[in-house]
Amino acid sequence: MARTRQQTPAPSSAGLAAAEPADIQRLVEDLDGMLNRLRLGAIREQLDGLLEEAARRQLNLREALAWICAAEVASKEQRRLSMAMTIAHFPFVRTLEGFEFEAQPSIDPGKIRDLATCRWVANGDNLVLLGPPGVGKTHLEVALGREAVARGYTVQFTTAMELLGSLVKGQQQGTLEARLSQYSKPKLLIIDELGYLPLEPQAGHLFFQLISRRYEQGSVLISSNRPVEEWDEVFGDQVVAAAILDRLMHHSHVVTIRGDSYRLREKRRAGLFRPPAGGSSLAGIGGVPPPTPAKKV
Ligand code: ADP
Ligand code: MG
Repeated sequence: MARTRQQTPAPSSAGLAAAEPADIQRLVEDLDGMLNRLRLGAIREQLDGLLEEAARRQLNLREALAWICAAEVASKEQRRLSMAMTIAHFPFVRTLEGFEFEAQPSIDPGKIRDLATCRWVANGDNLVLLGPPGVGKTHLEVALGREAVARGYTVQFTTAMELLGSLVKGQQQGTLEARLSQYSKPKLLIIDELGYLPLEPQAGHLFFQLISRRYEQGSVLISSNRPVEEWDEVFGDQVVAAAILDRLMHHSHVVTIRGDSYRLREKRRAGLFRPPAGGSSLAGIGGVPPPTPAKKV
């Protein structure tokens, strides 16, 4: 069992130099306790295997120490990553490796790989992903968000409805300030699905407040099925929409995806669905219909 802080001997370096073999034996017996005190849980758990491997590879003491420390660092990094992924609240796991670029020729793979380096996040730039339903906007948001987490940035994923619902509630309950500052904290805020559902009348003003607060501080990744020219309809106010776009687009990258829904493409492949005569009815951006708020597909 792990010893408490008081029970664990803590010899000075002078004391260690004078240590008898029996003292060393006592230290070895307390190794688990010391590793606990130092919060080196991975070393404690893997110690036998690590020492055996170090001996098998005939590492010298310095090499063995580095080998053992590396195991702890890897484990702590893994823990940090999985906690940060949980905090980010991604709706599902999607990766860039899992994205079929051939299925969406309107996307430049080089541009996405460049975005995956997260330099734009480091610079506090924004990214706007536009395209009709099913073309991979949320997939790319999650994949790029995971890249940002892996690089040590704080990330939060939310939907436009959830975000604006929370801000409207904050305004009603007198907690707007707290909510605005909560959404201003992450280095990257991902706002999915702007434009799918009609917003409350005050939503545009609240969204503007958030975007102003994050302006040149942290990045926003926002996706929408509506082209930016239609955002005055989305926010129900031309002036507010222009002010939002002014800040959002100042330092920004825009990726516009044109093409068919990946979901329907898969169904079509399986013979479950036939495209309507004259092509896809989901052309949306880059195609003809639909400017009206579409139901989430
Ligand atoms: P959107 O957000 O644009 O409506 P999604 O990202 O939700 O679309 O994509 C719908 C589904 O299809 C998701 O499961 C997503 O992982 C998948 N998908 C979309 N595009 C691709 C693609 N090019 N390669 C692989 N999977 C894709
Ligand atoms: Mg989506």
